[in-house]
Amino acid sequence: MILDMGPMLRGEVDTLDVDYTIQPEPCAGVEFTAEAHVVGKVTDTGGYMRLVLEADMPYKTICARCLDDVIGTYTVCFERTVAEERSLTQEQIDENVDEYIIVRDGKLDIDEQLVEEMILSFPTKFLCDEDCPGLCPKCGKQLKHGACGCNTKEIDPRLAVLAKLLEESDD
Ligand SMILES: [Zn+2]
Ligand SMILES: [Zn+2]
Repeated sequence: MILDMGPMLRGEVDTLDVDYTIQPEPCAGVEFTAEAHVVGKVTDTGGYMRLVLEADMPYKTICARCLDDVIGTYTVCFERTVAEERSLTQEQIDENVDEYIIVRDGKLDIDEQLVEEMILSFPTKFLCDEDCPGLCPKCGKQLKHGACGCNTKEIDPRLAVLAKLLEESDD
C-alpha cells in the first residue's frame, strides 16, 4: 500500500489509519490460506511520526514433530519511525534500515519493508502443541494419541552391561 502522507505533512491530521490486505511471499512448507490483514496507523506527535502495524497471516503447515496439520494465524508487528527523505542523510538511512521508513515525494510505500519483516519474523517451525511428543522412532505412530508399546528406551551400552549383571544377580 502507498499511503498519501500529504495531509499529515501539511499538519492537517495527526493520525492516518492503515487497513488493507497483502499476499504474503511464498514460504517453503507453509500455505497462506488467505491474504494477510494489515491494520494500524501513522501518528504524528509534534512532528515525530511513527508507523505501527500488525499483519495477521493465516497459515496452514505441519507440526515439526508429528507432521499433523497446524492451522493458525501468525501476527507480525511492524513499527518504524516515519521520516521524510530530505530530513535524513543517506548514511542515516542506510545505517538504520530497521528503524526508519522513508516518505518519498509525499508518499509512504509500506509494502516492501513490511513484506520483508513478514518473511524474517515468520517462524521456521510450528508445533501442533508445545508438548507434542512427536512420532515413535520405531513404528512412526503419533505418540499424542497414546503409547504404541514399542520399547524405545535407548540404553547406554555401559549401563546395559550393568543392567545385565543386575538381571543375572536377580536370578
Ligand atoms: Zn505435533
Ligand atoms: Zn512405536
